[in-house]
Amino acid sequence: MSDGFEIQQAAVVGAGTMGRGIVISLASAGIPVLWLDANAQMLSAGLKMATDTWAHQVTKGRISQAQAEQNLARLQAVDSYAALADVDLVIEAVYENLELKQEIFRLLDSTLKPDAILASNTSALNIDAIAAVTSRPAQVLGLHFFSPAHIMKLLEIVRGAHTSAAVLAQARQLGQRLGKVAVVAGNCRGFIGNRMLKTYADEARKMLLEGALPQQVDAALQAFGFAMGPFRMYDVVGIDLEWRARQLAGQGMDSPLAQVDNALCERERFGQKTGRGYYRYAEGSREAEHDPQVDALIESIARELGYRRRVIDDQEIIERSLLALVNEGAKILEENIAANSHDIDLVYLNGYGFPAQVGGPMNWADAQGLATIEQRLQALQQQHGEHWKPAALITRLVAAGKGLGNVGEGRV
Ligand code: NAD
Repeated sequence: MSDGFEIQQAAVVGAGTMGRGIVISLASAGIPVLWLDANAQMLSAGLKMATDTWAHQVTKGRISQAQAEQNLARLQAVDSYAALADVDLVIEAVYENLELKQEIFRLLDSTLKPDAILASNTSALNIDAIAAVTSRPAQVLGLHFFSPAHIMKLLEIVRGAHTSAAVLAQARQLGQRLGKVAVVAGNCRGFIGNRMLKTYADEARKMLLEGALPQQVDAALQAFGFAMGPFRMYDVVGIDLEWRARQLAGQGMDSPLAQVDNALCERERFGQKTGRGYYRYAEGSREAEHDPQVDALIESIARELGYRRRVIDDQEIIERSLLALVNEGAKILEENIAANSHDIDLVYLNGYGFPAQVGGPMNWADAQGLATIEQRLQALQQQHGEHWKPAALITRLVAAGKGLGNVGEGRV
Protein backbone atom coordinates (compact mmCIF):
# COMPACT_ATOMS: atom_id res chain seq x y z
CA MET A 1 0.00 0.00 0.00
CA SER A 2 1.51 3.34 -1.01
CA ASP A 3 1.46 6.40 1.26
CA GLY A 4 -0.46 8.35 -1.38
CA PHE A 5 -3.41 5.94 -1.28
CA GLU A 6 -6.68 7.53 -0.23
CA ILE A 7 -9.75 5.72 1.00
CA GLN A 8 -12.30 6.10 -1.80
CA GLN A 9 -14.80 3.49 -0.69
CA ALA A 10 -15.39 2.08 2.78
CA ALA A 11 -17.59 -0.64 4.24
CA VAL A 12 -18.98 -1.14 7.73
CA VAL A 13 -20.07 -4.52 9.09
CA GLY A 14 -22.55 -4.09 11.93
CA ALA A 15 -25.48 -1.67 12.18
CA GLY A 16 -25.83 -1.44 15.96
CA THR A 17 -24.94 1.49 18.21
CA MET A 18 -21.38 1.82 16.98
CA GLY A 19 -21.86 0.86 13.32
CA ARG A 20 -24.46 3.63 12.99
CA GLY A 21 -22.22 6.35 14.39
CA ILE A 22 -19.24 5.18 12.31
CA VAL A 23 -21.29 5.16 9.11
CA ILE A 24 -22.60 8.67 9.80
CA SER A 25 -19.07 9.86 10.49
CA LEU A 26 -17.66 8.34 7.26
CA ALA A 27 -20.47 9.53 4.98
CA SER A 28 -20.45 13.03 6.54
CA ALA A 29 -16.74 13.22 5.61
CA GLY A 30 -17.55 12.44 1.98
CA ILE A 31 -16.67 8.73 2.00
CA PRO A 32 -19.12 6.31 0.30
CA VAL A 33 -20.03 3.37 2.56
CA LEU A 34 -21.37 -0.11 1.90
CA TRP A 35 -23.21 -1.37 4.96
CA LEU A 36 -23.71 -4.98 5.97
CA ASP A 37 -25.46 -6.55 8.96
CA ALA A 38 -26.71 -10.09 9.55
CA ASN A 39 -30.02 -8.58 10.66
CA ALA A 40 -31.87 -6.63 7.93
CA GLN A 41 -33.99 -4.83 10.54
CA MET A 42 -30.87 -3.39 12.17
CA LEU A 43 -29.79 -2.07 8.76
CA SER A 44 -33.11 -0.35 8.07
CA ALA A 45 -33.16 1.09 11.60
CA GLY A 46 -29.57 2.25 11.01
CA LEU A 47 -30.46 3.95 7.74
CA LYS A 48 -33.38 5.65 9.45
CA MET A 49 -31.16 6.89 12.25
CA ALA A 50 -28.61 8.29 9.77
CA THR A 51 -31.43 10.03 7.84
CA ASP A 52 -32.87 11.49 11.06
CA THR A 53 -29.44 12.64 12.27
CA TRP A 54 -28.75 14.55 9.07
CA ALA A 55 -32.31 15.97 8.98
CA HIS A 56 -31.75 17.23 12.54
CA GLN A 57 -28.44 18.80 11.48
CA VAL A 58 -30.30 20.60 8.66
CA THR A 59 -32.85 22.05 11.09
CA LYS A 60 -29.97 23.23 13.32
CA GLY A 61 -28.34 24.92 10.31
CA ARG A 62 -25.20 22.76 10.61
CA ILE A 63 -25.49 21.31 7.10
CA SER A 64 -27.61 22.18 4.05
CA GLN A 65 -30.47 20.08 2.71
CA ALA A 66 -28.28 19.28 -0.32
CA GLN A 67 -25.48 18.01 1.94
CA ALA A 68 -27.92 15.83 3.87
CA GLU A 69 -29.08 14.30 0.59
CA GLN A 70 -25.50 13.77 -0.61
CA ASN A 71 -24.59 12.09 2.69
CA LEU A 72 -27.53 9.72 2.42
CA ALA A 73 -26.70 8.95 -1.22
CA ARG A 74 -23.27 7.76 -0.04
CA LEU A 75 -24.85 4.90 1.96
CA GLN A 76 -25.69 1.59 0.39
CA ALA A 77 -27.00 -1.39 2.32
CA VAL A 78 -25.72 -4.72 0.98
CA ASP A 79 -26.46 -8.31 1.93
CA SER A 80 -23.32 -10.22 0.96
CA TYR A 81 -19.58 -10.14 1.54
CA ALA A 82 -19.06 -10.45 -2.23
CA ALA A 83 -20.46 -6.91 -2.57
CA LEU A 84 -17.54 -5.62 -0.46
CA ALA A 85 -14.84 -6.98 -2.81
CA ASP A 86 -13.54 -3.60 -4.01
CA VAL A 87 -13.63 -1.46 -0.86
CA ASP A 88 -10.40 0.14 0.40
CA LEU A 89 -11.30 -0.14 4.08
CA VAL A 90 -13.78 -2.15 6.13
CA ILE A 91 -14.62 -1.38 9.76
CA GLU A 92 -16.17 -4.27 11.68
CA ALA A 93 -18.53 -3.36 14.54
CA VAL A 94 -20.37 -6.57 15.49
CA TYR A 95 -20.81 -8.01 19.01
CA GLU A 96 -17.74 -8.06 21.25
CA ASN A 97 -16.87 -11.72 20.78
CA LEU A 98 -13.50 -12.95 19.52
CA GLU A 99 -14.74 -16.06 17.67
CA LEU A 100 -17.42 -14.04 15.87
CA LYS A 101 -14.94 -11.35 14.85
CA GLN A 102 -12.46 -13.99 13.66
CA GLU A 103 -15.16 -15.61 11.55
CA ILE A 104 -15.95 -12.26 9.95
CA PHE A 105 -12.28 -11.42 9.34
CA ARG A 106 -11.80 -14.77 7.58
CA LEU A 107 -14.68 -13.91 5.27
CA LEU A 108 -13.40 -10.37 4.70
CA ASP A 109 -9.89 -11.62 4.00
CA SER A 110 -11.13 -14.09 1.40
CA THR A 111 -13.40 -11.61 -0.40
CA LEU A 112 -11.79 -8.16 -0.22
CA LYS A 113 -9.10 -7.03 -2.68
CA PRO A 114 -5.56 -7.75 -1.45
CA ASP A 115 -4.61 -4.20 -0.49
CA ALA A 116 -7.79 -3.43 1.47
CA ILE A 117 -7.41 -2.47 5.14
CA LEU A 118 -9.37 -4.56 7.66
CA ALA A 119 -10.23 -2.75 10.90
CA SER A 120 -12.09 -3.78 14.05
CA ASN A 121 -13.92 -1.44 16.41
CA THR A 122 -13.37 -3.84 19.32
CA SER A 123 -13.21 -2.15 22.74
CA ALA A 124 -10.70 -4.53 24.27
CA LEU A 125 -10.09 -7.74 22.29
CA ASN A 126 -6.67 -8.82 21.05
CA ILE A 127 -6.08 -7.31 17.59
CA ASP A 128 -3.30 -9.82 16.89
CA ALA A 129 -5.69 -12.73 17.50
CA ILE A 130 -8.04 -11.18 14.95
CA ALA A 131 -5.23 -10.44 12.45
CA ALA A 132 -3.90 -14.00 12.82
CA VAL A 133 -6.86 -15.54 10.97
CA THR A 134 -6.14 -13.40 7.89
CA SER A 135 -3.46 -13.67 5.21
CA ARG A 136 -2.72 -9.93 5.60
CA PRO A 137 -1.88 -9.10 9.24
CA ALA A 138 0.08 -6.02 8.07
CA GLN A 139 -3.25 -4.52 6.94
CA VAL A 140 -5.21 -5.31 10.10
CA LEU A 141 -5.64 -2.81 12.93
CA GLY A 142 -8.09 -1.51 15.49
CA LEU A 143 -10.11 1.64 14.82
CA HIS A 144 -11.69 2.17 18.21
CA PHE A 145 -14.42 4.80 18.01
CA PHE A 146 -16.26 6.06 21.08
CA SER A 147 -20.00 6.23 21.53
CA PRO A 148 -21.74 8.06 19.86
CA ALA A 149 -19.13 7.63 17.12
CA HIS A 150 -20.29 10.54 14.97
CA ILE A 151 -20.00 12.92 17.94
CA MET A 152 -17.14 11.76 20.16
CA LYS A 153 -13.80 13.21 19.06
CA LEU A 154 -11.51 10.37 20.09
CA LEU A 155 -10.27 7.64 17.77
CA GLU A 156 -7.86 5.07 19.20
CA ILE A 157 -5.85 3.55 16.37
CA VAL A 158 -4.74 0.15 17.65
CA ARG A 159 -1.46 -1.07 16.23
CA GLY A 160 -1.11 -4.84 16.05
CA ALA A 161 2.27 -6.58 16.17
CA HIS A 162 2.29 -6.75 12.34
CA THR A 163 0.37 -3.60 11.34
CA SER A 164 2.49 -1.76 8.75
CA ALA A 165 3.63 1.84 9.10
CA ALA A 166 1.80 2.69 5.84
CA VAL A 167 -1.49 1.35 7.22
CA LEU A 168 -1.04 3.34 10.44
CA ALA A 169 -0.38 6.44 8.33
CA GLN A 170 -3.61 5.74 6.40
CA ALA A 171 -5.50 5.42 9.65
CA ARG A 172 -4.14 8.75 10.89
CA GLN A 173 -5.12 10.37 7.62
CA LEU A 174 -8.61 8.92 7.94
CA GLY A 175 -8.83 10.25 11.51
CA GLN A 176 -8.02 13.70 10.19
CA ARG A 177 -10.63 13.46 7.44
CA LEU A 178 -13.24 12.48 10.01
CA GLY A 179 -12.24 15.40 12.24
CA LYS A 180 -11.15 13.07 15.05
CA VAL A 181 -8.37 13.34 17.60
CA ALA A 182 -6.47 10.16 16.70
CA VAL A 183 -4.07 8.46 19.13
CA VAL A 184 -2.07 5.33 18.30
CA ALA A 185 -2.27 2.66 21.01
CA GLY A 186 -0.47 -0.66 21.36
CA ASN A 187 -2.33 -3.93 21.63
CA CYS A 188 -3.25 -4.88 25.21
CA ARG A 189 -6.55 -5.57 26.94
CA GLY A 190 -8.55 -2.32 26.72
CA PHE A 191 -5.77 -0.45 24.86
CA ILE A 192 -5.07 2.95 26.49
CA GLY A 193 -8.49 4.27 27.48
CA ASN A 194 -10.42 1.23 28.63
CA ARG A 195 -7.42 -0.32 30.37
CA MET A 196 -7.07 2.80 32.51
CA LEU A 197 -10.84 3.01 32.95
CA LYS A 198 -10.84 -0.47 34.46
CA THR A 199 -8.42 0.43 37.28
CA TYR A 200 -10.31 3.68 37.90
CA ALA A 201 -13.74 2.01 37.93
CA ASP A 202 -12.48 -0.85 40.12
CA GLU A 203 -11.23 1.70 42.65
CA ALA A 204 -14.65 3.37 42.62
CA ARG A 205 -16.28 -0.04 43.20
CA LYS A 206 -13.91 -0.72 46.11
CA MET A 207 -14.84 2.59 47.68
CA LEU A 208 -18.52 1.61 47.49
CA LEU A 209 -17.81 -1.50 49.51
CA GLU A 210 -15.57 0.35 51.97
CA GLY A 211 -18.16 3.00 52.80
CA ALA A 212 -18.94 5.42 49.94
CA LEU A 213 -22.19 5.62 47.96
CA PRO A 214 -22.55 6.12 44.16
CA GLN A 215 -23.91 9.66 44.36
CA GLN A 216 -21.07 10.68 46.68
CA VAL A 217 -18.34 9.24 44.41
CA ASP A 218 -19.93 10.82 41.33
CA ALA A 219 -20.47 14.20 43.01
CA ALA A 220 -16.85 14.37 44.22
CA LEU A 221 -15.44 13.56 40.77
CA GLN A 222 -17.86 15.89 39.01
CA ALA A 223 -16.88 18.69 41.42
CA PHE A 224 -13.27 17.97 40.39
CA GLY A 225 -14.44 18.57 36.80
CA PHE A 226 -15.21 15.17 35.26
CA ALA A 227 -18.16 15.39 32.84
CA MET A 228 -19.70 12.40 34.62
CA GLY A 229 -18.78 10.26 37.62
CA PRO A 230 -18.19 6.52 37.05
CA PHE A 231 -21.58 5.30 38.30
CA ARG A 232 -23.55 7.78 36.22
CA MET A 233 -21.36 6.73 33.31
CA TYR A 234 -22.14 3.03 33.84
CA ASP A 235 -25.84 3.87 33.94
CA VAL A 236 -25.48 5.54 30.52
CA VAL A 237 -23.32 2.79 28.98
CA GLY A 238 -25.35 -0.07 30.52
CA ILE A 239 -24.24 -2.01 33.61
CA ASP A 240 -25.32 -5.22 31.87
CA LEU A 241 -22.59 -5.11 29.18
CA GLU A 242 -19.82 -6.22 31.55
CA TRP A 243 -22.22 -8.53 33.41
CA ARG A 244 -23.09 -10.37 30.18
CA ALA A 245 -19.41 -10.46 29.19
CA ARG A 246 -18.56 -12.03 32.59
CA GLN A 247 -21.27 -14.64 32.09
CA LEU A 248 -20.21 -15.40 28.51
CA ALA A 249 -16.56 -15.75 29.47
CA GLY A 250 -17.47 -17.72 32.60
CA GLN A 251 -15.05 -15.46 34.46
CA GLY A 252 -15.21 -12.82 37.16
CA MET A 253 -18.74 -13.46 38.47
CA ASP A 254 -17.38 -14.27 41.94
CA SER A 255 -15.09 -11.25 42.24
CA PRO A 256 -16.09 -9.10 45.25
CA LEU A 257 -15.92 -6.01 43.05
CA ALA A 258 -18.55 -7.45 40.69
CA GLN A 259 -21.12 -8.17 43.41
CA VAL A 260 -22.96 -4.84 43.39
CA ASP A 261 -23.13 -4.83 39.58
CA ASN A 262 -24.30 -8.47 39.56
CA ALA A 263 -27.02 -7.70 42.10
CA LEU A 264 -28.22 -4.65 40.13
CA CYS A 265 -28.35 -6.66 36.89
CA GLU A 266 -30.19 -9.57 38.56
CA ARG A 267 -32.84 -6.97 39.43
CA GLU A 268 -32.84 -5.77 35.79
CA ARG A 269 -31.34 -2.50 36.88
CA PHE A 270 -29.22 -2.13 33.72
CA GLY A 271 -29.01 1.67 33.84
CA GLN A 272 -30.82 4.45 32.01
CA LYS A 273 -32.25 2.08 29.39
CA THR A 274 -34.33 0.25 32.02
CA GLY A 275 -35.10 3.39 34.04
CA ARG A 276 -33.08 2.04 36.98
CA GLY A 277 -29.43 1.32 37.61
CA TYR A 278 -27.16 2.89 40.21
CA TYR A 279 -29.79 5.64 40.11
CA ARG A 280 -33.45 5.80 39.18
CA TYR A 281 -34.88 7.77 36.29
CA ALA A 282 -38.39 9.15 35.89
CA GLU A 283 -40.20 7.92 32.76
CA GLY A 284 -38.42 9.31 29.66
CA SER A 285 -35.95 11.33 31.77
CA ARG A 286 -32.16 11.14 31.89
CA GLU A 287 -32.00 12.90 35.25
CA ALA A 288 -30.20 10.57 37.68
CA GLU A 289 -32.09 10.47 41.00
CA HIS A 290 -30.72 9.08 44.24
CA ASP A 291 -32.26 5.69 45.05
CA PRO A 292 -32.14 4.61 48.73
CA GLN A 293 -32.79 1.00 47.62
CA VAL A 294 -29.36 1.01 45.95
CA ASP A 295 -27.72 2.33 49.14
CA ALA A 296 -29.34 -0.49 51.11
CA LEU A 297 -28.22 -3.06 48.54
CA ILE A 298 -24.61 -1.83 48.65
CA GLU A 299 -24.58 -1.80 52.46
CA SER A 300 -25.91 -5.33 52.64
CA ILE A 301 -23.44 -6.69 50.05
CA ALA A 302 -20.54 -4.96 51.81
CA ARG A 303 -21.64 -6.51 55.13
CA GLU A 304 -21.89 -9.99 53.58
CA LEU A 305 -18.39 -9.59 52.15
CA GLY A 306 -17.09 -8.68 55.63
CA TYR A 307 -16.39 -4.98 55.07
CA ARG A 308 -16.62 -2.63 58.05
CA ARG A 309 -17.90 0.47 56.36
CA ARG A 310 -16.35 3.83 57.24
CA VAL A 311 -16.71 7.44 56.19
CA ILE A 312 -14.80 8.15 52.98
CA ASP A 313 -14.35 11.84 52.29
CA ASP A 314 -14.33 13.57 48.91
CA GLN A 315 -10.60 14.14 49.02
CA GLU A 316 -9.93 10.41 49.35
CA ILE A 317 -12.32 9.70 46.47
CA ILE A 318 -10.52 12.14 44.18
CA GLU A 319 -7.07 11.02 45.27
CA ARG A 320 -7.72 7.30 44.78
CA SER A 321 -9.51 7.82 41.45
CA LEU A 322 -6.80 10.01 39.94
CA LEU A 323 -3.90 7.99 41.28
CA ALA A 324 -5.44 4.81 39.85
CA LEU A 325 -5.45 6.48 36.43
CA VAL A 326 -1.91 7.81 36.80
CA ASN A 327 -0.33 4.55 37.97
CA GLU A 328 -1.96 2.52 35.19
CA GLY A 329 -1.06 5.26 32.69
CA ALA A 330 2.59 4.98 33.78
CA LYS A 331 2.49 1.20 33.21
CA ILE A 332 1.00 1.83 29.76
CA LEU A 333 3.86 4.24 28.98
CA GLU A 334 6.45 1.84 30.27
CA GLU A 335 5.08 -0.97 28.08
CA ASN A 336 5.10 1.37 25.08
CA ILE A 337 1.33 0.99 24.65
CA ALA A 338 1.28 4.79 24.38
CA ALA A 339 4.08 6.75 22.69
CA ASN A 340 4.07 9.54 25.27
CA SER A 341 2.10 10.94 28.19
CA HIS A 342 0.45 13.59 26.01
CA ASP A 343 -1.29 10.84 23.99
CA ILE A 344 -2.70 9.39 27.21
CA ASP A 345 -3.97 12.81 28.20
CA LEU A 346 -5.58 13.24 24.76
CA VAL A 347 -7.42 9.94 25.23
CA TYR A 348 -8.75 11.00 28.63
CA LEU A 349 -9.68 14.52 27.53
CA ASN A 350 -11.45 13.49 24.32
CA GLY A 351 -12.96 10.12 25.19
CA TYR A 352 -13.56 10.02 28.94
CA GLY A 353 -14.73 13.48 29.99
CA PHE A 354 -11.59 14.32 31.98
CA PRO A 355 -11.61 18.04 32.92
CA ALA A 356 -9.94 20.04 30.15
CA GLN A 357 -8.59 22.65 32.57
CA VAL A 358 -6.56 19.94 34.37
CA GLY A 359 -4.98 18.91 31.04
CA GLY A 360 -5.30 15.12 31.48
CA PRO A 361 -4.27 12.70 34.23
CA MET A 362 -0.59 12.53 33.33
CA ASN A 363 -0.32 16.30 33.12
CA TRP A 364 -2.04 16.47 36.52
CA ALA A 365 0.55 14.07 37.97
CA ASP A 366 3.47 16.12 36.69
CA ALA A 367 1.84 19.30 38.02
CA GLN A 368 1.63 17.72 41.51
CA GLY A 369 5.27 16.69 41.23
CA LEU A 370 6.02 13.05 40.46
CA ALA A 371 7.87 12.58 43.76
CA THR A 372 4.69 13.57 45.62
CA ILE A 373 2.71 11.13 43.46
CA GLU A 374 5.14 8.34 44.29
CA GLN A 375 4.84 9.04 48.03
CA ARG A 376 1.06 9.04 47.85
CA LEU A 377 1.07 5.75 45.93
CA GLN A 378 3.39 4.24 48.55
CA ALA A 379 1.07 5.38 51.33
CA LEU A 380 -1.88 3.75 49.55
CA GLN A 381 0.19 0.60 49.02
CA GLN A 382 0.77 0.35 52.77
CA GLN A 383 -2.87 0.97 53.55
CA HIS A 384 -4.67 -0.91 50.78
CA GLY A 385 -2.26 -3.43 49.31
CA GLU A 386 0.09 -4.29 46.50
CA HIS A 387 -2.06 -3.15 43.58
CA TRP A 388 -1.00 0.36 44.59
CA LYS A 389 2.72 -0.32 44.19
CA PRO A 390 4.10 2.61 42.15
CA ALA A 391 4.81 1.72 38.51
CA ALA A 392 8.54 1.06 38.01
CA LEU A 393 8.64 3.96 35.54
CA ILE A 394 7.48 6.40 38.23
CA THR A 395 10.22 5.27 40.59
CA ARG A 396 12.82 5.59 37.83
CA LEU A 397 11.64 9.04 36.75
CA VAL A 398 11.58 10.33 40.32
CA ALA A 399 15.15 9.08 40.86
CA ALA A 400 16.19 10.91 37.66
CA GLY A 401 14.35 14.09 38.69
CA LYS A 402 12.08 13.84 35.62
CA GLY A 403 8.35 13.80 34.94
CA LEU A 404 5.99 11.64 32.89
CA GLY A 405 6.03 14.36 30.23
CA ASN A 406 9.70 13.57 29.58
CA VAL A 407 8.96 10.02 28.41
CA GLY A 408 9.00 9.32 24.66
CA GLU A 409 10.89 10.68 21.68
CA GLY A 410 14.14 9.40 23.19
CA ARG A 411 14.07 11.82 26.13
CA VAL A 412 14.18 9.10 28.80
P1 NAD B 1 -24.60 -3.69 19.05
O1 NAD B 1 -25.06 -4.89 19.78
O2 NAD B 1 -25.36 -2.41 19.18
O3 NAD B 1 -24.56 -4.03 17.48
C1 NAD B 1 -23.94 -5.17 16.95
C2 NAD B 1 -24.48 -5.41 15.54
O4 NAD B 1 -23.75 -6.49 14.97
C3 NAD B 1 -25.97 -5.80 15.51
O5 NAD B 1 -26.65 -4.95 14.61
C4 NAD B 1 -25.94 -7.24 14.99
O6 NAD B 1 -27.07 -7.56 14.16
C5 NAD B 1 -24.66 -7.24 14.18
N1 NAD B 1 -24.11 -8.57 13.94
C6 NAD B 1 -23.97 -9.57 14.84
N2 NAD B 1 -23.42 -10.66 14.24
C7 NAD B 1 -23.19 -10.32 12.95
C8 NAD B 1 -22.63 -11.00 11.84
N3 NAD B 1 -22.21 -12.25 11.93
N4 NAD B 1 -22.54 -10.34 10.66
C9 NAD B 1 -22.99 -9.08 10.53
N5 NAD B 1 -23.53 -8.38 11.55
C10 NAD B 1 -23.63 -9.00 12.75
O7 NAD B 1 -23.08 -3.49 19.43
P2 NAD B 1 -22.24 -2.13 19.56
O8 NAD B 1 -22.48 -1.51 20.88
O9 NAD B 1 -22.45 -1.33 18.31
O10 NAD B 1 -20.75 -2.70 19.61
C11 NAD B 1 -20.09 -3.14 18.45
C12 NAD B 1 -18.61 -3.24 18.71
O11 NAD B 1 -18.12 -1.96 19.08
C13 NAD B 1 -18.22 -4.18 19.85
O12 NAD B 1 -17.00 -4.80 19.52
C14 NAD B 1 -18.06 -3.23 21.02
O13 NAD B 1 -17.18 -3.72 22.00
C15 NAD B 1 -17.45 -2.04 20.32
N6 NAD B 1 -17.63 -0.75 21.02
C16 NAD B 1 -18.80 -0.46 21.63
C17 NAD B 1 -18.95 0.78 22.26
C18 NAD B 1 -20.26 1.17 22.90
O14 NAD B 1 -20.27 2.12 23.68
N7 NAD B 1 -21.36 0.53 22.58
C19 NAD B 1 -17.90 1.69 22.27
C20 NAD B 1 -16.72 1.37 21.60
C21 NAD B 1 -16.60 0.14 20.98
